[in-house]
Amino acid sequence: MRPSLIATCVACVIALLVLMPAAAQEQRRLEVELDTSQVADKPALVQWGEDAKALMEEWHPRLVNLLQTPGFEPLYEVRLVIRDTDEGVAFAQGNRIVVSSHWIEAHPEDIGLVVHELVDIVQHYRRRVPGWVTEGIADYLRWAIYEGKPQRWFHRPDEPRAYRQGYRTTAGFFLWLEADQAPGIVARLNSAARRGEYDDDLFEAATGKTLDALWDEYRREGR
Ligand SMILES: [Zn+2]
Repeated sequence: MRPSLIATCVACVIALLVLMPAAAQEQRRLEVELDTSQVADKPALVQWGEDAKALMEEWHPRLVNLLQTPGFEPLYEVRLVIRDTDEGVAFAQGNRIVVSSHWIEAHPEDIGLVVHELVDIVQHYRRRVPGWVTEGIADYLRWAIYEGKPQRWFHRPDEPRAYRQGYRTTAGFFLWLEADQAPGIVARLNSAARRGEYDDDLFEAATGKTLDALWDEYRREGR
């Protein structure tokens, strides 16, 4: 082997060694510990749990990227519990998502609900963030981004300040803002919420119009 080739190879190996830890870190994946012990006698629910786990592992990197803020370290270990119960739908608490068996039995197609719950875990907002903002962002990522629902799918209540209803109502409003008046607003809201600095004035800073005025424009368009 010629000396210049050897030098090139040595340089390659050094470059690989330097790059490897960074690459390994980027590839860290979510690990979902699935607990279907309460519904072990119902194969359809066990399968639903497996499918939900796969969906969460697939979407976690994307959700983390969409909700990234400087220095934020997301959780990489989450428990998914299928609870044998005839009440409730689903909730996230700490690093745990609990889904009710009766809901899955009645609505097996509603598997995207774990995307919403996973967003709530990734959000990790601590201080003074109104519930409608948190739940609006979670439903925006579920319905507009994951499910790909068009603007017309979202219900627009024709009442003042109804963005405060949160969930799908707010998600539709965020989609409308993202598409025209305030591209990037969800990332801005997320980053302010992470810092504990959420304020309604963020909407005015982004668009020159107050939150209430933007909502009025949105609901008028839907008439
Ligand atoms: Zn939620």
